[in-house]
Amino acid sequence: MKDVIAELTRIVQQVSMVQDATRQVRLIVDQIAQTLECEVCSLYRIAPEGHMELLASHGLNAERPVTIPGGQGLVGLVARTRHVVNLANGLKHPDYFHVADLLEERFKSFCGVPLVNNGEVIGVLVVQGRYARKLSSKHEAFLSTLAAHIALLVQQLPVALDDVAQQKQMLGVPAAPGVAIGHALLCRRDSLANAAVSYNHDVALALEEWQSLLQRVDEDLKQERAALGAMVSAEVANMFDAYQMLLFDPTLSERVKTAIREGYALTTAIKMAIQHYADLFRAMDDEYMKARHEDVWHLGNKLYHTYQNRHPEIALEAAGHEAIILIGHDISVSDIAGVPTKRLKGIVSAGGSRLSHTAILANALGIPAVMGVPGILEVAEQELLIVDGFEGQVFSDPAETLLAEYQVLIERERSMEAGLEKLRELPAQTKDGQRIQLLSNSGLLSDISPGLKHGSEGIGLFRTEIPFMASETFPTEDEQIRLYRKALELYRGKPVVMRTLDVGGDKPLPYFSVGFEENPALGWRGIRFALDNVQLLVTQLRAMLKAAREPGQLHILVPMVAYIDELRTVRKLLDETLVQLKEEGVTVHRPRLGIMIEVPAAISQLPKWRPYLDFVSVGSNDLSQYLLALDRNNPRVAARYDHVHPAVVSELKRVVDLSQSLELPLSVCGEMAADPVSVLLLVGMGVERLSMSSARLPRIKLLIRNLDRATAQAFLQRALDLESAQAIRELGKQLIEENGLLTIR
Ligand code: PEP
Ligand code: MG
Repeated sequence: MKDVIAELTRIVQQVSMVQDATRQVRLIVDQIAQTLECEVCSLYRIAPEGHMELLASHGLNAERPVTIPGGQGLVGLVARTRHVVNLANGLKHPDYFHVADLLEERFKSFCGVPLVNNGEVIGVLVVQGRYARKLSSKHEAFLSTLAAHIALLVQQLPVALDDVAQQKQMLGVPAAPGVAIGHALLCRRDSLANAAVSYNHDVALALEEWQSLLQRVDEDLKQERAALGAMVSAEVANMFDAYQMLLFDPTLSERVKTAIREGYALTTAIKMAIQHYADLFRAMDDEYMKARHEDVWHLGNKLYHTYQNRHPEIALEAAGHEAIILIGHDISVSDIAGVPTKRLKGIVSAGGSRLSHTAILANALGIPAVMGVPGILEVAEQELLIVDGFEGQVFSDPAETLLAEYQVLIERERSMEAGLEKLRELPAQTKDGQRIQLLSNSGLLSDISPGLKHGSEGIGLFRTEIPFMASETFPTEDEQIRLYRKALELYRGKPVVMRTLDVGGDKPLPYFSVGFEENPALGWRGIRFALDNVQLLVTQLRAMLKAAREPGQLHILVPMVAYIDELRTVRKLLDETLVQLKEEGVTVHRPRLGIMIEVPAAISQLPKWRPYLDFVSVGSNDLSQYLLALDRNNPRVAARYDHVHPAVVSELKRVVDLSQSLELPLSVCGEMAADPVSVLLLVGMGVERLSMSSARLPRIKLLIRNLDRATAQAFLQRALDLESAQAIRELGKQLIEENGLLTIR
């Protein structure tokens, strides 16, 4: 073994590229045996009951299932002591445990390393050799390092590998939530990308054909948009607008015409122009912009198929099944429009990303979707599939037991949804009459109608950075006015809390790099960024004030405030902007001004900051991350994150008590507002305003309507005495269960 790091990387990469769990474990043992040039490599996993099961072995006779009683044998010794056992001759060790039929007695040397995940031994990796000699320290170190990588993979393996062997589990990116069962329907077609280069001599004819093709495709797009009918949200409509804009973009047309004049056939000319645009998008750093290259190809394919008069209607009738899962390499918005929405149950695509238009449309239509599943192209047409859009997994030809489990899940979701629908017009009020205002978090216009549909009482957090991030440049004042006005008008008569630009940290702007930062979470973000780029903040304040026509509706919220001067400066800017606009003859109303409580320093300072504040909103995501010094987007530490940590609960109680004594209106707008256990604590503290993503709103309303304040207060008191987040969470869940707080009555 020459290069340890290269070998490690190679094995880990090879294993992660295989989807099937049985093949993955097989590959691990084969690769290790080959790399270390040893006769045997075996992988054991500790079962929940405590015994150890042999998952795969290179070199041992593991035809029949092999299990070793918990803690026994050399494998048990490794698991018990939690460290490497490297022996020249394992057969002579007092812990050696003979397993019949395994034919292990041929191998003297033994080196076992524990597989540890989250501090727990979950398995053991063993290599053995024919001759009595210890594994070299270089090889032992290699094995230990590899074990640390493999542990995560073993942790994620399905409970019963055999069950999974007959069905195929494929992992992808969760793109739209929900679960569906249905039959695969493949969007099969040749793509423009594969069209061969061809030439043409009748330039005039090709130019004419191009013009008429543009008109035909435009017509088609209009029809597809109409086919989606009332389901089309503003965002989806924008998607079609984007296709049409690109279609009539003069530079696209110019490129096509130039290629035609150079002697290329129309198809090749289109391909060259589309390729050029797609490459431009693909080269962008920002994930959202990068994902737009898929849209360019969708449009290219549409042009290609229309030109060839090959409308790739999906063989719907041939499929015959009522429940359809649309699968394909890339599924375009046009493909989705081609299937009646009633029959379309799920979407799985080999390509695509969470930010692709397909994902946005699936979300808007409420259809579960998983993207980035290359294995889906191997699935036979009409095969039965389970699509799990929550976890980002797909099962083909599922076993009866799994199918039954998912059917129960779908049924439960369905009856819950139906029951929740009835709560829409009812107030969120505890059984003893405490009214809680439920608002929604928003940022895209597509969030607005689901919010209203779910009975949202206003926008509690409008994340203005989202349109900034989705744009190609800083949006102009007029563009911002249009967007903000739309949101304000749709929520007429209800409060709308607009947050000033909160970029930096985990929210980069594609067109304005903040540069490398050692510690972005503590860096140039939120109000720090906005004040240093004051021209952006002023434009934004002007746009918000000009957009708001209804007195009292607009609230302005400032993120990441840590210093009183930041607050004073924003207040002064707001005053100046109001004066400026009045001088320009614009009718403006003074909005309420508040800050996010995200930086822990803000808590103790509230009394001093009170004179400058009209309200506060607790951003529990950032507040928890800073209190716990823990980034929940970092997979290595994410499992430790829980916002019901006793320290977070007690700090939250301090903020709520302070805001009550200061008569300062308070809301909570982070994830805690949508988490049932946290909501019990918040209601117990006396929080009266919660803002969350609209899909979560009906469930929280149900919980509140089943709750009385005394129960919530008693829970809070007990929680404050508990030592861990886990204990608080368990107690909360028990309370929800025993009191049927999430039961529709
Ligand atoms: C928060 O920090 O809780 C919050 C709502 O802000 P964001 O999630 O947008 O950072
Ligand atoms: Mg935040």
